[in-house]
Amino acid sequence: MIANTFAYERAVSVDEALRLLKESGGDATVLAGGHSILPLMKIRLTTLEKLIDISRIPELKGIQQKGDRLEIGALTTHAEISKDPTVKETIPALAEAAASIGDIQVRNRGTVGGNIAHADPASDLPALAVAFDANIDIQSTEGTETFTAEDFFLGPLITAIPENSILKTVSFAIPPKEAKSTYVKYAHPATGYAVVGVAAAIGQMEDGMITYARVGITGVGDIAFRAEEVERTLIGNKPTEDLVQEAAKKATEGQEMGSDLFASEEYRHHLCQVYTKRALNKLLF
Ligand SMILES: Cc1cc2nc3c(=O)[nH]c(=O)nc-3n(C[C@H](O)[C@H](O)[C@H](O)COP(=O)(O)OP(=O)(O)OC[C@H]3O[C@@H](n4cnc5c(N)ncnc54)[C@H](O)[C@@H]3O)c2cc1C
Repeated sequence: MIANTFAYERAVSVDEALRLLKESGGDATVLAGGHSILPLMKIRLTTLEKLIDISRIPELKGIQQKGDRLEIGALTTHAEISKDPTVKETIPALAEAAASIGDIQVRNRGTVGGNIAHADPASDLPALAVAFDANIDIQSTEGTETFTAEDFFLGPLITAIPENSILKTVSFAIPPKEAKSTYVKYAHPATGYAVVGVAAAIGQMEDGMITYARVGITGVGDIAFRAEEVERTLIGNKPTEDLVQEAAKKATEGQEMGSDLFASEEYRHHLCQVYTKRALNKLLF
């Protein structure tokens, strides 16, 4: 399929991109890796007037540990995140999730900013954003505004990004030193998107007592969510198979499951419990 005719401009800095967006009076859309927006244009699910290409803006790239947070520039690709030694050391779940995205072409072009800004309910990185208290920095000509993941994801493909703004960085809270983290998913066989994806982190005392637990789930509803009942069940207890079973059963508590041709509501509910259990078993035993 071929997209409709559209105008194209490339920005070399964030300031230039913001100026071009403003001058377009709301008719322009930002282009990063193009691996979500271009397929939509090609099948004409969306028709756009103008694309502002931000993919070569150096200030939007890079990974830095800043105190207890990991700050990632919007244009950092999934491949770069998956291979980065600091990501692997501080939040291995994030490296695993990035490595599980699509195929090598998608990972080489797709960006963290695009993935979060697109807010596809089946995307992997929103699970990490909710599990690890992501802060999302958005810049407009008025200044910079920071959103928590909770305030940012509003619905399927809907976010709090104001018009004519650019997502600059996503920063994730690094779990405590003693914590381990992982990402497991049941991938759609055709695309690799998450039918269910579970990001989990567990911290334990020397005697095994669980002191820290984070679980974020994507793919099953309109937006990714934190499975707080699972976390509450684990914290303050020593791990046993029964405890993991009891915690995993609570993975979907209070959540509405989606239903489509690929997976029914009931099946997604079941997958959530199975994949939460897998993630916890991987971290605890
Ligand atoms: C075959 C295939 C398989 C895939 N499999 C997976 C998968 O398994 N898991 C997964 O999570 N994803 C998957 N994806 C999606 C992939 O991760 C995309 O790259 C990503 O979702 C979007 O990033 P992008 O840089 O390509 O953004 P683009 O496509 O360039 O942009 C997407 C949207 O975000 C906006 N945007 C982008 N960057 C910014 C910014 N800095 N500020 C403001 N707005 C911005 C754009 O305007 C656009 O609306 C797959 C894609 C394909 C084509």
